[in-house]
Amino acid sequence: MADKKQFVVIGLGRFGGSVCKELIKLGNEVLAMDMDEQKVNDYARYATHAVVGDSTDESTLRSLGVRNFENVVVAIGDNIQASILTTLLLKEMGVNNVCVKARNYYHHKVLEKIGADKVVHPETDMGKRIAQQMSDENVIDYIELSEEYSIVELIATAKLEGKTLIKLNVRARFGVTILAIKKGDNIDISPSPDYQIGKGDLLIVIGHNEDIKRFEDQVM
Ligand code: ADP
Repeated sequence: MADKKQFVVIGLGRFGGSVCKELIKLGNEVLAMDMDEQKVNDYARYATHAVVGDSTDESTLRSLGVRNFENVVVAIGDNIQASILTTLLLKEMGVNNVCVKARNYYHHKVLEKIGADKVVHPETDMGKRIAQQMSDENVIDYIELSEEYSIVELIATAKLEGKTLIKLNVRARFGVTILAIKKGDNIDISPSPDYQIGKGDLLIVIGHNEDIKRFEDQVM
């Protein structure tokens, strides 16, 4: 597992709350902050430290030592002004990696301009992901690497049963690479060319979206 890191999560709504819990689950330390005392109480048992505070107040951020953290997640929902001001303060303090939840396109643009390192749209991103998964019954999971490239987890159909990777020759035929194969609980991260695929194996495939589609259409 990766080294333990220290995070600040600002805003403990549904998104920030879920980021906080998952970071802790992954073994990291989290300073959770919200101006709503009730939220802070709710998260006190998950976060390493949970504090009540307004992140648009520079002296609060300073007294909490936020500048010493490498990673901060700004998960302020509706208050775009507070989200922008918080991001600005964090970047001015020299926080290296600031990830911010954006409400809309304009918010996103401003965040980028003032130096946010990552801007996310959880609802739209998740919507896309769910649509991808649901519109294709072979797709179990999907990670968008860029507009054009993805990693997908495909479930091997009966058509693939017994075929070896060398016979499928997917890299030459489709330009995609099978990174790993999951069979039950086992994962083989460098499957050998003579590995025989079984029905139900999960193939983790990386490539251009169009190439992955061609691979699925012709082979799966
Ligand atoms: P979500 O859509 O992820 O559920 P919410 O809008 O419900 O987001 O949650 C945002 C959280 O951010 C709220 O708990 C709110 O109290 C908190 N918040 C808003 N502004 C600030 C601020 N300036 N400082 C700290 N927390 C804030």
